[in-house]
Amino acid sequence: MTANSGAAEPIAPTGAAMIVADIAIVGGGLAGSLAAAVLARAGHRVALVEKRAVHPDEFRVEKIGSQQLDVFRRLGFIRGLESMACPYDRVLNIREGKVVDVSVGQAYGFTYSHLVAMARGQIPDPSSLIIDEVTAVSCSDDVQHLDFASGRRLQARLVVLATGMAGVLGYRLGIRRRLLAAQHSVSFGFTIARRDGAPFDFNALTCYGERASDGIDYLSLFPVPAGMRANLFMFRDPTDPVMRELRRDTAATVLRLLPGLRCYLGDFLVTDRVQNWVMDLSIVEGHLQPGVVLIGDAFQTNCPAAGTGVARLLVDVERLCTEYAPRWLMTEGMSKEKISQFYSDPAKVAADQQSLRMARFRQALTSRGDIGWDVRRRLHFLRRKIIHRVDQARPGWLGRVRTALRA
Ligand SMILES: Cc1cc2nc3c(=O)[nH]c(=O)nc-3n(C[C@H](O)[C@H](O)[C@H](O)COP(=O)(O)OP(=O)(O)OC[C@H]3O[C@@H](n4cnc5c(N)ncnc54)[C@H](O)[C@@H]3O)c2cc1C
Repeated sequence: MTANSGAAEPIAPTGAAMIVADIAIVGGGLAGSLAAAVLARAGHRVALVEKRAVHPDEFRVEKIGSQQLDVFRRLGFIRGLESMACPYDRVLNIREGKVVDVSVGQAYGFTYSHLVAMARGQIPDPSSLIIDEVTAVSCSDDVQHLDFASGRRLQARLVVLATGMAGVLGYRLGIRRRLLAAQHSVSFGFTIARRDGAPFDFNALTCYGERASDGIDYLSLFPVPAGMRANLFMFRDPTDPVMRELRRDTAATVLRLLPGLRCYLGDFLVTDRVQNWVMDLSIVEGHLQPGVVLIGDAFQTNCPAAGTGVARLLVDVERLCTEYAPRWLMTEGMSKEKISQFYSDPAKVAADQQSLRMARFRQALTSRGDIGWDVRRRLHFLRRKIIHRVDQARPGWLGRVRTALRA
């Protein structure tokens, strides 16, 4: 197949049995949809193949902030994000009912399905989104082929697998998932409101677990368009009876596990379905193959408590779609050597490793009961409290000291 034409031609007439594109992206979750929009805006012929026309109301990332926003800005999605998310810029952090510190910085709360819809909406030509299920992939140094459940076929120079945690397609190519930690964490997502209908007294709040034996890392409360969202992240056996209590009697169980929250929440109720997710940590093996590249959760899963899933996914999208894929398309072929450039990209490798490091750190800090981690946990919160008090007493002073020490 010849090098990229660079023209943003339509990929195929609607309903054509054989679709031809430069890049086929399989999976229109956050990673695939952002990647499709970035590549299509740059003039590449992109086909985004997604089995579900509307992303279901699944519990995934529901808030982003700090450096993730810089990437959204650089890739041109910040307006889209602002249009569908709730902004907040102060998070009150508490433990055992007392203030640890206050995090200041722009952040946004949203529903994952709306975030995905926003990203898909940024693809310039709506016909680039094909609603179908990919049932088989075959890849080579030159041309890649996809089979769809509908019987249609697609031919492309590069296939991007952004299929999330579902690994079925990769298996056919010999790509396997290596389990790093089974049932590493448990997450709950639900929305709350005060019974009297009044707003909560905080913008956003994080309440850390009180006892290592509870396995609670933190409960994060933040605004989303539907109200005050709660994400509870735990490191605990998913078969423990407390999981059922959290699903069935959520408000009472949360207050039993985090009694220090009571005075901040008042009398509250859960206003929607309680969603629950048990996460394995895993990474793929056998992925270095010609013609195909894996991004987002399809490459590596993340610990929700560590909050690194989107950071990793954004590095994947930015590096692949602004650097490697455009360059690869300028020359013949799609060899393993080309693909390996992406997997060994220093920013990608660093983000992947950081995600695993944070996953292990959060688990140990939350639930390890040995004396070493107990001391570390106490010191962690003590250090944050002291910094906060100093910052309150002498605003900006610590920042100046840090700058002076670095100089
Ligand atoms: C409970 C929970 C909480 C989380 N909280 C956070 C957080 O606070 N911060 C953070 O940074 N990260 C968080 N994460 C991680 C983050 O949500 C994920 O990293 C991110 O959503 C992954 O996006 P993705 O596009 O890779 O996968 P997905 O969003 O899963 O998308 C995969 C898509 O592929 C499609 N697909 C699969 N197979 C096929 C096929 N054969 N043909 C066509 N389409 C197919 C699926 O339909 C789906 O739409 C959380 C994750 C979970 C589970």
